[in-house]
Amino acid sequence: MASPSKKKSSAKPAAKKSEPRVAVVTGSTSGIGLGIANALAAEGCHIVLNGFGDSKEIESIRSGLEKTYKVRAIYVDCDLSKPAQVQKLIHVAEEKFGRVDILVNNAGMQYVAPVQEFSGEKWEQLLSVNLSASFYTIHEALPGMQQRGFGRIINIASAHGLVASKNKSAYVASKHGLVGLTKVVALENATADITCNAICPGWVLTPLVQAQIDTNAEKEHIPVKDAEIKLLSEKQPSLRFATPEEIGALVVYLCSESARSITGTTLSIDGGWTAQ
Ligand code: NAD
Repeated sequence: MASPSKKKSSAKPAAKKSEPRVAVVTGSTSGIGLGIANALAAEGCHIVLNGFGDSKEIESIRSGLEKTYKVRAIYVDCDLSKPAQVQKLIHVAEEKFGRVDILVNNAGMQYVAPVQEFSGEKWEQLLSVNLSASFYTIHEALPGMQQRGFGRIINIASAHGLVASKNKSAYVASKHGLVGLTKVVALENATADITCNAICPGWVLTPLVQAQIDTNAEKEHIPVKDAEIKLLSEKQPSLRFATPEEIGALVVYLCSESARSITGTTLSIDGGWTAQ
C-alpha cells in the first residue's frame, strides 16, 4: 500500500508510485493485531509492532515480516497502560520512518467479574489499555496526519462496543467509549482525507478468548471443545469464529482509496451476533 499520487476508485490500494505507507499496530505480537500487521505488510506497508511477549518470538515475527513481504518492520517495547510510553510509541515510529499514515489501535485486555466484585485496580488498568491508550496514540499521531493531509485510524472495538454482556463492565464500558472516541475523531477530520472507524469483531479464537473458554470449561467441568461450542452458541449465530485474517482484510480495505468516505462508523464482523 503506497501513498498514491492519483486518486483511483478501486478496492485495491493504488499502485506503488511513491513511498510505502507506515502503519503502527498496537498489540501486534499476538492474535488479531498480528493478523492485521501481516495483512498490511502484505500490501507493502512498513510496520511498527508493539505488544508483550517473549523477545525471541517477537524478533522472529519482526524479521519474518521483513523477509516475507520485503518491507521494513520495527518493534517498540512499551506498556500502553502508561501514557508516557504510548507517546513514545508514536514518537519512535515517526523518528524511524518519518511519519505515521495508518494507526490501528488494537491492544486490549479482558477481565470478568460482577460489578460489585470488580476491583478498582482492574477497572483502571482495563480502561487505560482498552480506551485511554487509543486517545494518546491518536493525540500524538494526528498532527502529522493533518499536516500531510492523509490518515487512516482504525480502532478495534468489539461487539461489546455495541451491546453488553454480564460480568464485563470495564470491557463493555471501554469498548463503548472507544466507539464514541472514533466518532469524534472522524467528525473533527471529516474534510481531510483522514478517516477514523471502529471494527467490532465477535468471537475470534485468540489467546484472549482461549483464556475465557478454558475458565468456562474448568468451572463447568466440561471438555474445552464443548466450552468452545457453548460460547459460540450463546452469541454468534454463524457458530464459527471470525479470524484475524478476516479482520486484517477489512483493515486493508478501510485503508484503501475506495474507503475514503467511510468514516465515524462501526463495522461488525461478528457472524450475526449484533443482528439479534
Ligand atoms: P490477544 O490477547 O491475542 O492480543 C492482545 C495484544 O495486546 C497482545 O499483543 C498483547 O501483548 C497486547 N497488550 C495487552 N496489554 C498491553 C499493554 N498494556 N501494552 C502493550 N500491549 C498490550 O487478544 P486479541 O483477541 O487478539 O485482541 C485484540 C483486540 O481485539 C483487543 O482490543 C480485543 O478487545 C479485541 N477483540 C477481540 C475479540 C476476540 O474474540 N478475540 C473480539 C472482539 C474484540
